[in-house]
Amino acid sequence: MAPSLSPIRSHHVAVIGAGAAGLVAARELRREGHSVVVFERQKQVGGTWIYTDHTEPDPLSVDPTRSVVHSSVYGSLRTNLPRECMGYRDFPFVVRSGVSESRDPRRFPSHGEVLAYLQDFAKEFAIEEMVRFETAVLKVAPAADEGTGKWRIESTDNEKRDRRDEIYDAVVVCNGHYIEPRLAEIPGISSWPGKEMHSHNYRVPEPFRDQVVVLIGNSASADDISRDIARVAKEVHVAGRSNAADTFIKRSGYSNLWIHSMIERVHEDGSVLFQNGKTISVDVLMHCTGYKYHFPFLETNGNVTVDDNRVGPLYKDVFPPAFAPWLSFVGIPWKVVPFPMFELQSKWIAGVLSGRIPLPSKEDMMKEIKTLYSTLEAEGIAKRYTHQMGITQFEYSNWLASQCGCPETEEWRKEMYLTTGMRKRAHPETYRDEWEDHHLVSQAYQDFSLYT
Ligand code: FAD
Repeated sequence: MAPSLSPIRSHHVAVIGAGAAGLVAARELRREGHSVVVFERQKQVGGTWIYTDHTEPDPLSVDPTRSVVHSSVYGSLRTNLPRECMGYRDFPFVVRSGVSESRDPRRFPSHGEVLAYLQDFAKEFAIEEMVRFETAVLKVAPAADEGTGKWRIESTDNEKRDRRDEIYDAVVVCNGHYIEPRLAEIPGISSWPGKEMHSHNYRVPEPFRDQVVVLIGNSASADDISRDIARVAKEVHVAGRSNAADTFIKRSGYSNLWIHSMIERVHEDGSVLFQNGKTISVDVLMHCTGYKYHFPFLETNGNVTVDDNRVGPLYKDVFPPAFAPWLSFVGIPWKVVPFPMFELQSKWIAGVLSGRIPLPSKEDMMKEIKTLYSTLEAEGIAKRYTHQMGITQFEYSNWLASQCGCPETEEWRKEMYLTTGMRKRAHPETYRDEWEDHHLVSQAYQDFSLYT
């Protein structure tokens, strides 16, 4: 644990978003002695875990003027990480005594249980008193006339009646990155007559009853949604860019679900040709191709950009050197265990802002970023994978922990993450209900007894 703090300098800090990242950022900033305002455009905390039946009118979500539905969660979604692994370090994601029976005690619970956990967290640490609900941030820009470092934030309530223009010492961006869809490029698509959509707008299988559906993607969403839809659809085909060109596999346990190589092209008659040479007539094409980082409110004069899904330059995925420490980001890395990482990033930001934790000079931060970019390039890793971590996340989290004076990631958490990944690949159908890592669960609960 970080030592109890008497801040060196306290600042007025804006946090954008009250999802899993913004909630813990607000807690850590206040613990460090900063005054905090959290801007949240929804009515409640929880971000992407607030399930809604609503979808966007534009099924591909490409219209920049659309009214955004924040959640990308579908009805049947259960977590892909076990709850012990997933929770914040000092607020374990366990079934608490005294909570209502409507809670989902499973190890890989439904989305509603994650939302309830985040609500519990917000209540336990009285976060909501810092949140301005139904308030969207429209613009964040350096406040040039206020001297260096400060930020001007323009926000509005949802009815656009109360527009505010305020100055903050620092801004922590926690706006999430699962709402701005990435789409696959498909030759012939402009004259293909079928229906196209992105998984952001998928909720339940029923609309796909008796349809022929093609999903594009190799991610957890494509895997889950294809199985979900196969229960009612006539045929489901999954096309993956990373699959070998001759891939054509029938999913075991299903009579109507196939895995293919990528789509070669689509035709005006509604057919889809895969690289494996198969052609089928298709009703719906669903892009399960992930999301793009998007900061529509951020104006930095080109000092922070999103280039082929690389947000940069960012020192340790958190601070843009030009504005450090007065602008920071929580939650940029992906393929990670998010909540505990958000917690460490937030502790680091809070300590750096108060002056308790030193940052390198801007030049040294830039030097490290350039070295990282050169290494990625030399290894042939495309820009869009800059923030993908996987196994390297633990080294990163341990570095953050060392900055903050916190213990490193627990060995059981790391092993649980790796074991779950292996079981997911080997037993995608059953990994959420059958497991062998009982010893890791026991170790986790021993650690949790400190907090529960
Ligand atoms: P979000 O939860 O997206 O929160 C961002 C918040 O910012 C939102 O409340 C939004 O309303 C607000 N906001 C955005 N822009 C503005 C603005 N301009 N003004 C005001 N407010 C704004 N993680 C796991 O650990 N386990 C899982 O099993 C798992 N499964 C997932 C499944 C799906 C389908 C998806 C999409 C994600 C999954 N994740 C999972 C990852 C998940 O995104 C993270 O766990 C985490 O919830 C992200 O939190 P966040 O705070 O970064 O973003």
